[in-house]
Amino acid sequence: MQFCFESSILLICFAMTQISNRQLFFSNLGQTSGFPMGLEIERTEGIYLYGPDGKKYIDLISGIAVSSLGHQHPRIIKAVEDQVKRHMHVMVYGEFVQSPQVQLAKALADTLPEKLSRVFFVNSGSEAIEGAMKLAKRFTGRYKFIAFRNAYHGATHGALSLNYDEHFKQAFMPLLPGIDFLDLGNISQLEVIDETIAAVVIEPVQGEAGVRIAEKTFYQKLQQKCIETGTLLIADEIQTGFGRTGTFWAFEQFGFVPDILTTAKAMGGGMPLGAFISSEEIMKSLQTNPVLGHITTFGGHPVSCAASLAALNELQESGIYKLASKKADLFKSLLVHEKIREIRNLGLMMAVQFDSFEIVEKIINKSMEAGIITDWFLHCDSAIRIAPPLIITEEQIKESCRILLSVLDEC
Ligand code: PMP
Repeated sequence: MQFCFESSILLICFAMTQISNRQLFFSNLGQTSGFPMGLEIERTEGIYLYGPDGKKYIDLISGIAVSSLGHQHPRIIKAVEDQVKRHMHVMVYGEFVQSPQVQLAKALADTLPEKLSRVFFVNSGSEAIEGAMKLAKRFTGRYKFIAFRNAYHGATHGALSLNYDEHFKQAFMPLLPGIDFLDLGNISQLEVIDETIAAVVIEPVQGEAGVRIAEKTFYQKLQQKCIETGTLLIADEIQTGFGRTGTFWAFEQFGFVPDILTTAKAMGGGMPLGAFISSEEIMKSLQTNPVLGHITTFGGHPVSCAASLAALNELQESGIYKLASKKADLFKSLLVHEKIREIRNLGLMMAVQFDSFEIVEKIINKSMEAGIITDWFLHCDSAIRIAPPLIITEEQIKESCRILLSVLDEC
């Protein structure tokens, strides 16, 4: 009895001195902003996230275009569990034959035009861009790149160099030399592409710019100019790939085929994974002068590849991504409010435009209180992002819009 009493007191004291995860989040995590969302997540299921208090949130952003099949998809969980039991890391990238890696490379190639048959696996979107830039430099012997105003391609030095926003770059100068920016959709500016340019890097749909798309002819003229000048065309499908826009790859909707494709985010089915993909001829150039022109320890981790293969197969067999445009139309027909200025989208990659950051900030905070997770865009803070898991149902869309509209009334 005495022991029981003492141990209970001890337990209570322990609980009182235990630092909460939320406190640790602020005291021990490297942070790059003073205003993180700070939401603690205990578990997830489908389109829902649950806090430690059991509060349920509708995930309308998929961890920024990642969880396309929702959270805890049984096929992905099983693939991960099976692979963990077989093996995890066994060797640096590209030396050993690892079944999930080669099966995924083949499955990816099968979703793409024939020439895009060589997949180099990395761990993230930024790394995919770095690899693609090195590949373009090595293959063409040129060092200059062209990107687009308001583009976002990642946070590492090479990828950052391709981002347009000076504000995010100035503190990290010097970045890569020889980078110019054009206006997305301006055909007359394509004249500047000449024989000195290694590659043009384009997001088929600009994500962080707040979902911006050019006319189809622009992409075709761009490809034509690249062919004329021996410039490679790199499509950054890190945010648009794996069905987000209604086709498996967004470039399919614009009538061009890139020389190099980058992918990540939804590709991993919730695990970290990225890739740059090209032709045998182009990819081969990383083999010589120098040998090992690009290397990575963890790129194409077998567990990530197993998850990715399960996600790819599930997306293809269910065809769920083909409903993205129809679901987006439902969002658009329901989200009618005097405060909404415009809704831009391709499939379930959507931006709801408002007048200012101030109202967007209020909407995001109040939505979270009301059980909806949304966000703004890195380079467009006057719009909110809607990029839900592609599995979202009609009923769930209606529920989300009902909550969002009542939040808008309050803001
Ligand atoms: N390219 C695009 C189009 C992106 O949206 C992002 C991430 N927002 C990246 C590259 C960088 O990917 P990661 O954060 O995985 O490095």
